[in-house]
Amino acid sequence: MSSSPSLADTRDVFVWDTTLDTGLDEVDTQHRHLADLFNALNRALLQGSAIPAEAQQAVFNELLAYAHQHFEDEEQLMRDAGLDERHRIPHERMHREFVEQVRAMWDTRNQLRDPTETLLGFLTAWLGLHILGIDMSMARQLARVRAGASAAEAYAAEEQHPDRGMAKLLHMVGQLYHALIERNRDLQHVNETLEQRVRERTAELEAANRQLEAYSRIDGLLGIANRGYFNKRLREEIARHARQARPLAVVMFDVDHFKRYNDHYGHQAGDACLQAVARALKREIYRESDLLARYGGEELVALLADTDGDGARVVAERAVAAVRALALPHAASPTAPVVTISAGSASLVPTVPEDGPRLLRLADAALYAAKQAGRDRAVASPRDARLDAAVDSP
Ligand code: GH3
Ligand code: MG
Ligand code: MG
Repeated sequence: MSSSPSLADTRDVFVWDTTLDTGLDEVDTQHRHLADLFNALNRALLQGSAIPAEAQQAVFNELLAYAHQHFEDEEQLMRDAGLDERHRIPHERMHREFVEQVRAMWDTRNQLRDPTETLLGFLTAWLGLHILGIDMSMARQLARVRAGASAAEAYAAEEQHPDRGMAKLLHMVGQLYHALIERNRDLQHVNETLEQRVRERTAELEAANRQLEAYSRIDGLLGIANRGYFNKRLREEIARHARQARPLAVVMFDVDHFKRYNDHYGHQAGDACLQAVARALKREIYRESDLLARYGGEELVALLADTDGDGARVVAERAVAAVRALALPHAASPTAPVVTISAGSASLVPTVPEDGPRLLRLADAALYAAKQAGRDRAVASPRDARLDAAVDSP
């Protein structure tokens, strides 16, 4: 044995005393050694994290291996003496249960509120119960058999023995420990089920969050991106186009005389009109890398990747024509008998983050110019120094 358990320690939990002697030399020697190993485990556990988990495990393994060996020796002794099986069978069962229960308790000790106390309490009680109870009975039966009694007579004599009440009591305490182990197993099972359910719920929540995030980017009425998402994408695209020195374009759209439309047809018809306009624009702004968003009210905006001023103007003009082609009646419009939009486009090769807001101001200025020029048209930002200067100081 690798430990030196015979050194007594004031912290020993299991203090040997002569009432524990069965009078069977070999059995008693083994019992003392078990108690020593148990005390060694106690010392190892009380040092807690001061000694590595593997070292604690090694002490435990040694205790369990020795207990196992001792049980086999005891069982051999009982068989050799031909003890009555009404004693042998429950005795052997107790041995098996000890190994099972101790192992289960050791494996689940981290789930105990006070693992060291509980484990050591269990081991002390079990060892004490076993030695004082069933081993004493075994020793007495062995003595009787060796003195010439039959196994049945030796067993029957136990029924009359004054320790009989004590043995019953010990048996009941043993049952209590059994119940404790079962409860620990149930707890462990409940824990595992709970963890599984937490994992499932987390996955559901994550999916719901992704859904929510998707909704938060989308305008509820028009089903296209909202202004928040547009601004985020604008910042990202400004950075990407700056890195690649590529032109980025923005087109602003605004429904002409939309206030009059609402006043004439009602707000609900106004909503439906906006939806029809958005669908028409979506058909014109279809590239994977393009983004159409609601900028606010009856104003929409397109972000066109890798698009120069000419490209942006073409898209803007196509969009204006597409809405006109919808031929949605607008009896209150002084511009045309149908719903029309105005568009302002701008493009630049960005170099700094401020080029994002600047691009928006250029497009907005062009849109204003389109309104001024009579609506139902697209105007491209001329990008001349004068206009640039005007939008740079809003
Ligand atoms: P302009 O040609 O100069 O753009 O004139 P306008 O009437 O379109 O411009 P103005 O900004 O004065 O009015 C915009 C109107 O758009 C006012 C507002 O009630 C309406 N509007 C904004 N959002 C919605 C919406 O979601 N649904 C409806 N039905 N109307 C909206
Ligand atoms: Mg407006
Ligand atoms: Mg308008």
